[in-house]
Amino acid sequence: MALGVPVLVLKEGTQRVYGREALRNNILAAKVLAEVLKSSLGPRGLDKMLVDSFGDVTITNDGATILKEMEIQHPAAKLLVEVAKAQDAEVGDGTTSAVVLSGMLLDRAENLLDENIHPTTIIEGYKKALDFALKELAKIAVKVDINDRQLLKRIASTSLYSKYVGSGATMDKLTDMAVEAVLRVAEPKGDGTYEVRLDRIKIEKKKGGSLLDSQLVEGIVLDKEVVHPGMPKRIENAYIVLLDAPLEVEKPEITAKINITSPEQIKAFLDEEARLLREMVEKIYSVAVERMKKDGVDPEKAGIVVITQKGIDEVAQHFLAKKGIMAVRRVKRSDLEKLEYATGGKIVSSLRDLKPEDLGFAKLVEERKVGNDKMVFIEGCPNPKAVTILIRGANDMVLDEAERSLNDALHVLRNVLRKPMIVPGGGAVEVELALRLRKFAESLGGKEQLAVEAYADALEEIPMVLAESAGMDALQALMDLRRLHAEGKTFAGIDAINGKIEEDMTKINVIEPILVKEQVLKSATEAATAILKIDDVIAAAPKTE
Ligand code: ADP
Repeated sequence: MALGVPVLVLKEGTQRVYGREALRNNILAAKVLAEVLKSSLGPRGLDKMLVDSFGDVTITNDGATILKEMEIQHPAAKLLVEVAKAQDAEVGDGTTSAVVLSGMLLDRAENLLDENIHPTTIIEGYKKALDFALKELAKIAVKVDINDRQLLKRIASTSLYSKYVGSGATMDKLTDMAVEAVLRVAEPKGDGTYEVRLDRIKIEKKKGGSLLDSQLVEGIVLDKEVVHPGMPKRIENAYIVLLDAPLEVEKPEITAKINITSPEQIKAFLDEEARLLREMVEKIYSVAVERMKKDGVDPEKAGIVVITQKGIDEVAQHFLAKKGIMAVRRVKRSDLEKLEYATGGKIVSSLRDLKPEDLGFAKLVEERKVGNDKMVFIEGCPNPKAVTILIRGANDMVLDEAERSLNDALHVLRNVLRKPMIVPGGGAVEVELALRLRKFAESLGGKEQLAVEAYADALEEIPMVLAESAGMDALQALMDLRRLHAEGKTFAGIDAINGKIEEDMTKINVIEPILVKEQVLKSATEAATAILKIDDVIAAAPKTE
């Protein structure tokens, strides 16, 4: 056979790294990322200052935000980011923990590789460890009675504790509203679990007053005013038209030239425009009255409200006002969709198609003064599973922080309702799982035993990181916790706020939904095993333009 002609499989300039070297590189990249996030874990976690290519600065200790802002190059690190994103999308919490844990799993895997254990064996061991840990987690967890509002408040406050700097009273107010809102929108699934659609809870912020003036409104609040001073400000038994169209006369798309030669022609032109607008208003009025009649409602005792995403011409406003119709314009699409759900109406994109059954209903639509502004409240909707939390506060910073905290609390509560079981936080569950995993490992023997033990070691890093951030001697803390857990104190963990060991984390309200922990374990294991599976990195040459 003739030699000499090289066979080019890969394009010139392609970089290829394979075998152990590829694996080590990937592990290193993932570990670096985990290392970055490590110090922001927990209530005493430190902030990161991130500077983007425009020089804009973000300061945060939220794992998901840090990962979003960091420009990550390495493919293996990117994989970890994807997993963190999935974690965030799934449960909205536990991103830092997931990344830190996968970093630990890879770190331990590296030691096993040094002992010549094959990646496949490690992957198998990690998977077994995960399955076992998930089963044990369910045994450790405590059931939650979702009617126990006090308990729900305590769980919600864990998330605020670590991030929110407000006083006890405002924290109480925020958790109160979060619990009420979530219970309002929760839909029982019949098996003791609930579905909670957080998009049914609208958060509206309005400057002025204090956080204690915040309120939960049963219905939708729009940060808008009634468009015309001559319109009613309060309508009971409101029939609501939801529009995705302007109440304006369409201007021709191409520039049309109209030759007007006399004042009469100008008048005729304007009259025509007014006629069209009046027709639109007439249409709304007649369709609404038709609907009222269908419902057996006396039009005298009901009213009409028009809410549109687009604009309303001044002349149209005038006609609407004359008919006693209330109107609000330039409403956000997302609000219109919430109204669709709450009022039972349907968004109509052309007035011509408006039918009586498209109208929504609310017992009361009213413009109220909130601070220095006016807002429109739509209350008493047929679907009560749509609420608004109206946050008040002295300035934008307070409002934004309250909103973030509220969002955290809402996510935690949603996770509890989706699976009403809780586990102790502060590393308690990790130490307990590690203890049980080590016993399980003994039953396996061989190289798999080593992998399962490595998994247990990785879990124990979580309490160590928490202890360290609280200024404790991390190793000593872990030893103490191991001893307590061996004695049967399943709920013993790190009290990071006070920098000490706590024998029962539930006493200090450091409690977490089981769903978050399950997801952390799954995401972290998935990321680590995915990286361990790669033994070949083939990178195309960077494009040079
Ligand atoms: P994540 O992005 O993973 O949610 P956090 O920074 O919110 O990261 O940290 C969550 C971890 O901090 C959990 O393990 C939780 O149990 C723990 N934690 C929260 N509050 C406390 C506390 N007061 N003491 C000790 N640990 C806490």
